[in-house]
Amino acid sequence: MNDCIFCKIIKREIPADFIYENDKIVAFLDIHPSNPGHALVVPKAHFTDLVETPDDVLADIMSRTKKIAPAIMNAVGADGFNSIFNTKPAAGQVIFHTHMHIIPRFKNDGLKHWPEKDLSKEEMRKIKDQIRAELR
Ligand code: 5GP
Ligand code: ZN
Repeated sequence: MNDCIFCKIIKREIPADFIYENDKIVAFLDIHPSNPGHALVVPKAHFTDLVETPDDVLADIMSRTKKIAPAIMNAVGADGFNSIFNTKPAAGQVIFHTHMHIIPRFKNDGLKHWPEKDLSKEEMRKIKDQIRAELR
């Protein structure tokens, strides 16, 4: 995966502000933070996105996020955080090496949450049935 920016960061071929590292995971600050302390938790092995990532690697990402996110909150004085995987370009994924965003949140920081949509009961029922059929 020679052209992957995150693989290059992990191999120290390009610089980053590392905040954590173990044998399987690194975490470093996002170069374009949504808030101060915005960090990315990244497996050392290259996988394209969440769905392609083995369960044990995802478990490592989650268990590390549980430790790293409160440390970030304390360090920057945040009141909460969002932890997000963007998956596929339609969802805003631009780096195709699995990563969890940790975005510290501050009361009244002005970041917007998802807009709400109103769907009819019939649309909701149809969607529910389609998803349940996919999961069978
Ligand atoms: P995505 O949209 O793929 O979920 O998020 C990719 C994130 O990686 C973006 O928030 C972007 O700012 C960050 N990013 C992209 N290139 C670099 C880089 O070279 N260094 C660092 N530290 N972050 C990067
Ligand atoms: Zn990679």
